Amino acid sequence: MNESPPALQLSQITKRFAGTAGPLDILNGVDLAMSGGEAVAVTGPSGSGKSTLLYIVGLLDEPTGGTLTITGEQPLEFDTAAQARFRNRNIGFVFQDHHLLPQLTVLENVLIPTLPLGGADATAETRARQLLERVGLGERIDHRPARISGGERQRVAVCRALINQPKLLLADEPTGNLDQATAESVGSLLLEIAAEQQTMLICVTHSLELAGRFPRRYELVGGRLEPR
Ligand code: ADP
Ligand code: MG
Repeated sequence: MNESPPALQLSQITKRFAGTAGPLDILNGVDLAMSGGEAVAVTGPSGSGKSTLLYIVGLLDEPTGGTLTITGEQPLEFDTAAQARFRNRNIGFVFQDHHLLPQLTVLENVLIPTLPLGGADATAETRARQLLERVGLGERIDHRPARISGGERQRVAVCRALINQPKLLLADEPTGNLDQATAESVGSLLLEIAAEQQTMLICVTHSLELAGRFPRRYELVGGRLEPR
């Protein structure tokens, strides 16, 4: 009866790009509702708009139409600075490429998102160390990204995405650049750690194997999400 509203709600999200041969309608009315802590996988062929959708939800791109509600707020209505603050506090992003800064150590990379929130204080550093321990990198905190493996870099990227305790974790082909065994372990870790941290997870993936481990799955077809 006392149903709480969805923690994430996308209603009729559309995205039109200006193509050279006329407009390209990539998203044609995406609807999705998630409650706190839920995990969803989105599959779809290359070019179907998966990254476009994730970037819109992550406030890195604007939709042409539709509404986006995250934890009761409508960040698309915010100005750019407020959007950046909202993103930093509430949304974590894991990309296909780890996007770690090569000159920083593993620990410093994980702490980057804490800087706009007043800096890497002792609490943040403790949390970063705990996350890195959790993903099996406790012995690697002083290494630079070039000295660890691809799977380890992606684990660091997951820790960085979680350092500010986001409500929402977005992962765009997070295992796309890894060999199969490494991809499986990083994929499992992502699901487990999102559940432990009680963060919602939307994971875009080519891998039906990885998608198959998610409790809810969708395919992006014709610019809409179809349950799978
Ligand atoms: P996916 O991640 O599923 O492979 P994308 O979301 O990256 O797909 O892209 C979907 C489609 O939108 C592609 O055809 C791509 O070329 C097009 N597209 C993406 N970004 C732009 C842009 N900024 N301008 C024009 N077309 C774009
Ligand atoms: Mg993509």
